[in-house]
Amino acid sequence: MQHEQALVGLGANLGDAAATLRAALLELDALQGCSLLRVSGLWRSAPVDAGGPDYCNAVAELRCEHGAEELLRRMQHIESRHGRVRPQGVRNAPRTLDLDLLCFGELRLQLDRLTLPHPRMHERAFVLAPLAEIRPDWCLPDGEAIADALRRLREAGQQVQRIGPLDPRG
Ligand code: ADP
Ligand code: MG
Repeated sequence: MQHEQALVGLGANLGDAAATLRAALLELDALQGCSLLRVSGLWRSAPVDAGGPDYCNAVAELRCEHGAEELLRRMQHIESRHGRVRPQGVRNAPRTLDLDLLCFGELRLQLDRLTLPHPRMHERAFVLAPLAEIRPDWCLPDGEAIADALRRLREAGQQVQRIGPLDPRG
């Protein structure tokens, strides 16, 4: 069976955010045709361009037998089950769960509902810090090493902090 490696960014800043991320990881692992390969630690970050509580963040690597759009649809079902609402016209609103598809193999895509790689992942320390734990070899599209990009974003003032392990499989 054909399969692809997908990277998923997880974030939450309402309710018991860490518990929500653990539950979401188990639900991703339980999706038919998908399995969790690697999970970063649990990270904390201040909201970007918005108010509200700090975020919990993580990145997971999945092995997936579905196409990217099908995986995104399933990820959105998981968001909805965790009470995600999208207030009209509010950007970066607080959320119980945000699941972003960061990369799907080498696929490049630009649709209204899905852009790959995720267009903002390279400018977000809360994505790159957990990603660097599971994919230290990762490079940005311009060839910059992930550790260098992360240093640059931290020097620009983005604050992210590892607060512990996360993998719900133990
Ligand atoms: P954000 O995560 O940027 O704060 P949302 O989670 O509300 O915003 O997503 C907004 C829209 O972005 C969704 O309707 C989704 O279809 C679209 N989208 C485009 N590319 C991606 C991607 N790579 N991963 C997740 N959503 C994406
Ligand atoms: Mg999202």
